[in-house]
Amino acid sequence: MNRRQTIPKELRYTFQQFDQDFPTDDACLEQIKEQRFPQGISFCHKCLKSRKHYRVHGRTAYACETCGNHIYPLAGTIFEKSSTPLRIWFHAMYLMGSTRCGISAKQIQRETGVTYKTAWRMFRQIRKLMGEDLRLGGTGSGGVEIDEMYHGGKRKGQAGRILRGDKGGHSTVLGVVERKGRIVAKVTPGVTLAAANTLVKEYVLPETLIYTDESVIYHSLPHLAGMGYQHKRINHSQKVYVTGDDVHTNTIEGFWSLVKRGIGGVYHSVSAKYLQSYLDEYSFRYNRRGCGNLIFPALLQRVSETASHKPAVEA
Ligand SMILES: [Zn+2]
Repeated sequence: MNRRQTIPKELRYTFQQFDQDFPTDDACLEQIKEQRFPQGISFCHKCLKSRKHYRVHGRTAYACETCGNHIYPLAGTIFEKSSTPLRIWFHAMYLMGSTRCGISAKQIQRETGVTYKTAWRMFRQIRKLMGEDLRLGGTGSGGVEIDEMYHGGKRKGQAGRILRGDKGGHSTVLGVVERKGRIVAKVTPGVTLAAANTLVKEYVLPETLIYTDESVIYHSLPHLAGMGYQHKRINHSQKVYVTGDDVHTNTIEGFWSLVKRGIGGVYHSVSAKYLQSYLDEYSFRYNRRGCGNLIFPALLQRVSETASHKPAVEA
């Protein structure tokens, strides 16, 4: 089955369209400028007024129409210090946004013509755009599922490789997912009561109904002061996967298998050091799974959202 055919027309963003929208480095720069300084209007630190700015030929700068002072749309973004042409960055972002299961640095190297090292570096930077700060659940939601995942090392007799960067075993990940909603997945210092409490307080809104398995690490969730969580548990060890109508953690387990398939199939292995960024990448796409391949525009929007806001002004 060709998955692309299932994407409704209004949610498609073809490479042809991308090529038309961003034919040159200048077009890409213009896009970032418009995100950060719509119509080129920005506060001028010399005039001490909002001014219109015009492109400075041959530079990634725009100049104040009155005093000529420069602003730099790329300052503070992931592109700031890169010598790789912007068009190639955009192309790599398009590729990362257009896949469901992930894409390797090797594929980016092949499609954009950069070296493997550059592809790998772009990859890491683009993943930084994919880290989000979400709060899930709440009273109106259908509840959240929380579950843990082990990565690398060995667990319960399963075959698993110990990867470089792993301290003698596996990494642990805790995830929260809204049913038919969004996900948050974080590498944690371990699978402990304290780790679960910390994660849940940070990412789950008060009064949320929480579904977990019977692991002891979730036992104190309904007793967290001021949070008002309700807690329903299922018993995996007795093979009771679903008790009652909606007590299950199938949603988050589905996400774990997507991540495991992706890491195994596309990336082959991921060291503990980079695990969080891969989780961010999968979460970012999962949270936009209804967006067809409009993930690229969403990713593009993250460029200005994640920029550090140092003044884009020439000293
Ligand atoms: Zn000025």
